[in-house]
Amino acid sequence: MNELVTQLNQYADAYYRLDSPLISDAEYDKLYRDLVELETAHPDLVLPNSPSHRVGGKVLEGFSKYQHQYPLYSLQDAFSFEELGAFDRRVRKEFPNVTYICELKIDGLSISLTYEAGHLVVGATRGDGSIGENITENLKRVQDIPLTLPEPLDITVRGECYMPKASFGRVNQIRQEAGEVEFANPRNAAAGTLRQLDTRIVAKRGLATFLYQEASPTEADRQSHVLEKLTKLGFVTNQDYYLADTMEDVWQFIEDLAGRREALPYEIDGVVIKVNNLAIQEELGFTVKAPRWAIAYKFPAEEKEAEILSVDWTVGRTGVVTPTANLTPIQLAGTTVSRATLHNVDYIAEKDIRLHDTVIVYKAGDIIPAVLSVVAAKRKQQEPMDIPTVCPSCGSSLLHYEDEVALRCINPLCPAQLKSKLEHFASRDAMNIAGLGSSIVEKLFSANLVQDVADIYRLSVEELLTLEGFKEKSATKLYQAIQASKENSAERLLVGLGIRHVGSKASKVLLETFRTIPRLAEASLEEIAALDGVGTVIAQSLTTYFSSEGAKTLVAELEASGVTLSYLGQVAAADALLAGMTIVLTGKLERLKRSEAKAKLESLGAHVTGSVSKKTDLVVAGSDAGSKLAKAQDLGIEVRDEAWLESL
Ligand code: NAD
Repeated sequence: MNELVTQLNQYADAYYRLDSPLISDAEYDKLYRDLVELETAHPDLVLPNSPSHRVGGKVLEGFSKYQHQYPLYSLQDAFSFEELGAFDRRVRKEFPNVTYICELKIDGLSISLTYEAGHLVVGATRGDGSIGENITENLKRVQDIPLTLPEPLDITVRGECYMPKASFGRVNQIRQEAGEVEFANPRNAAAGTLRQLDTRIVAKRGLATFLYQEASPTEADRQSHVLEKLTKLGFVTNQDYYLADTMEDVWQFIEDLAGRREALPYEIDGVVIKVNNLAIQEELGFTVKAPRWAIAYKFPAEEKEAEILSVDWTVGRTGVVTPTANLTPIQLAGTTVSRATLHNVDYIAEKDIRLHDTVIVYKAGDIIPAVLSVVAAKRKQQEPMDIPTVCPSCGSSLLHYEDEVALRCINPLCPAQLKSKLEHFASRDAMNIAGLGSSIVEKLFSANLVQDVADIYRLSVEELLTLEGFKEKSATKLYQAIQASKENSAERLLVGLGIRHVGSKASKVLLETFRTIPRLAEASLEEIAALDGVGTVIAQSLTTYFSSEGAKTLVAELEASGVTLSYLGQVAAADALLAGMTIVLTGKLERLKRSEAKAKLESLGAHVTGSVSKKTDLVVAGSDAGSKLAKAQDLGIEVRDEAWLESL
């Protein structure tokens, strides 16, 4: 018992506090059950620090603590129909006519939202059930949480905040490219995100919620009515629930759900079965840890053993080298799996994964399966794995930066990187060139028709016809798609350049302001960082990128091929009053909102930037203008006031 308690507490700490589990949930659940079994057999020996007496984890430093007015609980769990039957019998002994509501068990983390007079005043995590972390500011960045309710209610509601599968894939992709540790699953990703100290990161991660409980006293008499009420108040509730009279009905719902689980856009790890009648819920009450009126059925783990046959090392667009294991094929959650990610070299070292090891493979969210751990008992004579020292694509030495978990190839001419750069360039969010996917890119490189991105604009139909499988029609179609992409507004090109941290959203903001790529390339770090929603990380990355000779050559070549370098969205006419002027707004405006003033200037063709420099043409100063006004006067830049702006 001692050993289990120590182990489980260590795992729970990694899981709840660090959002970085050391073992799979299934392994944890198994150890936990072993402990509960021992505790049931020897109740007098139960240790005071046993996890069976506690909900969740400790409060993270960096956030203030929040004392919940109504405590939060965990759930008892069940792994079979028999265990559900036992639960049903316990309930039915007292309430023979009980009926249940089955809700999806969303794999996120509990949140508690408190509204006063209809306004969101506190958003908190569960923490240990009575004290959570106050994460109000972060939760306000979660798009679907209403900040005000249609009625001035005092109410506390509970639910789950989760990361949809699509966002999870995207977030991990970005982390992988940046050489950062990927999140193990969407739950950890959601928890890690909500406990960010930087609220802007939360806004970017695409979290969502399902609310399911009214924690403050409710006039509803059924759980299903609570869901209806929450929906009316503007919360997102999960409508995929089911009312069941018997456990057989419940089981049918579970079986049906298992079949469509993969297709859901979010992760679930089971079904929560609750007594539907709230008066009965109240009578049944709680144990120290969980309600007696509910049970969570958990799906069997999506984990299986397989042998690692070989390992492929592939180089991504940013030069990060990723290891993927080729496995003996296994069936996992309805699909045949024969490859799994090993994440990075640090992961391989930490888990001591070797070639021909038998390993546990699991599905992490919607992405490709991953290797969780080695089955030590099945290891024979395996030597530690050979880690490449040179790039598998170009042969140059690989680097392992101190602050990164991955190996990197830093050769800018590495063919593997160039290929994936071109794939990215042509992708939907970037230049959107239909038909230029990975296999065609591969063919273009093997035929030596392209060496880098700019080369595609020099391709002729005749050259495309030399590629295997191409006919007149397909070659012309691809040629036309490439030509058409020249007309794209430049924010697509900016995405296509694949500059670290610069995605669609930032590209649009940047080009709305700077209007052309050459102008952006000349902008200073301060000018860029001053833009709304951009910040220093992006500014740093852009200025570094545009200062390189390679980038300058590439942009010049693209321009020579006729690729549009300017922003085409709402461009003011060339003869607009302020066309081409760079203007800075500073000080307090009395009548116009700052956003209105900015929009007005932009509609007249001006670029509005945040800091004064020699490139500034004019400064509009409101009252109490400080250092920017002084600097403008120093530099002899023309200064106007709000009245001037209004008169335009
Ligand atoms: P739980 O996740 O098993 O169940 C309780 C939680 O379910 C609630 O707090 C709520 O957040 C959530 N939930 C989702 N949908 C719900 C719905 N419709 N209605 C009500 N609740 C809903 O319990 P827990 O105490 O949060 O966590 C325990 C589990 O966490 C373990 O069983 C294990 O799987 C995992 N864990 C894993 C590790 C590890 O190292 N891998 C460590 C600790 C815990």
